[in-house]
Amino acid sequence: VRKPGQAISKGHKNYDLMLNLQLGIRYSVGKNGSPARELQQSDFDPKEKFWTRFPPEGSKMTPPHQSAEFRWKDYCPVVFRHLRKLFQIDPADYMLAICGSDALRELSSPGKSGSFFYLTHDDRFIIKTVKKSEVKVLIRMLPSYYWHFSQYENSLVTKFFGLHCVKPIGGQKTRFVVMGNLFCSEYQIHRRFDLKGSSHGRTIDKPDDEIDETTTLKDLDLNFVFRLQSNWFQELIKQINRDCKFLEEERIMDYSLLVGVHFREDNNCEKLGLSPYLLRSGKKDSFQNEKFMRECRFLEAELQNMDRIISGRKPLIRLGANTPARAERMVRRSDFDQYMMQGGLSHRTHSRSRGTCEVVLYFGIIDILQDYDISKKIEHAYKSLQVDSTSISAVDPKLYSKRFRDFIGRIFIKER
Ligand code: ATP
Ligand code: CA
Ligand code: CA
Repeated sequence: VRKPGQAISKGHKNYDLMLNLQLGIRYSVGKNGSPARELQQSDFDPKEKFWTRFPPEGSKMTPPHQSAEFRWKDYCPVVFRHLRKLFQIDPADYMLAICGSDALRELSSPGKSGSFFYLTHDDRFIIKTVKKSEVKVLIRMLPSYYWHFSQYENSLVTKFFGLHCVKPIGGQKTRFVVMGNLFCSEYQIHRRFDLKGSSHGRTIDKPDDEIDETTTLKDLDLNFVFRLQSNWFQELIKQINRDCKFLEEERIMDYSLLVGVHFREDNNCEKLGLSPYLLRSGKKDSFQNEKFMRECRFLEAELQNMDRIISGRKPLIRLGANTPARAERMVRRSDFDQYMMQGGLSHRTHSRSRGTCEVVLYFGIIDILQDYDISKKIEHAYKSLQVDSTSISAVDPKLYSKRFRDFIGRIFIKER
């Protein structure tokens, strides 16, 4: 299987940055393997950050290394150590995934913000460079973020494992977070969507034949609804409400529901207009093979255990990971605007559905470090002069959350 992105090897412009980052993380995680003590209020203090000097010749605390001297900063390290424990991240696995000899891969800048994204070779972790303002937001929300995850282990909000900064002598600071990759999966993700519930500018301008499984599609490109078994559906709506309440209270907006779709069978896929993708990805045979059948039986068995899974312990399927559903093709792209304006799918639109397909879904809420600051207020005022102000992405967090939840209520529906 072709891996996404470009491996950062010697000569890559961010090779030194990667080395520094690996040295820094090995140092931070190694320093304190597992939580030694209870969390204290003071661990959340924004002043709780530590600079360490990494001279090339090494020091008492740090190993010698190949790149120029740099400084390394850990933000609230004790809190993140506890978060990693809460998220059941084994310290040795974590260190190996990020700092092992396999290079990180740089994803070709997926967002507009200019952030860089790096993927670990095992696909489990994503490192994203962030702005100073985003660091502030994360530190500010850290106490309620921690509380939120201690309450709701099914939360769909991005899992953060660390927040750091690298500064080469005489160079720029690079701040970054380590987070979970939502699409770390045994299954190939055939389609991905970044959904906000707003319509303005929410389409990718690409001819169909340039769209493949690495393209991140947007709201107006979505022509499915996802039918979930009723207990999954209820759990999803409940959790989205809790997560949005949390984000609203933190005055966050501009987040997305990132959805990855794996199509389990291809007999209906032509009806769904999907055959080119599946054929191109060379996965056609896998639909017949034994591994796939095993996966199906596994899912079936898990489905029967649903009640225990939702209430309980270490499920192999979690909300947002391995979630079985049926994708139903709904409306053509050109119909979508109208459907958004009518406030959702009417009964009539439902009956027009053509073709359904068993899918496995991966989803979560990403890009949660933008607060409704002065720049977003100006963006809102400016764009409202041009288009309907409810269709644009920059709106007040309360409105944002309402529109987001309404949208999710329209694209996910309950099994009849
Ligand atoms: P912008 O602010 O312009 O939206 P950004 O640079 O803040 O962009 P994000 O929105 O965080 O970037 O992410 C951009 C894309 O990267 C997403 O649409 C998704 O394809 C991918 N991505 C981001 N976070 C994750 C994650 N945790 N797991 C998998 N993919 C992710
Ligand atoms: Ca985004
Ligand atoms: Ca962003």
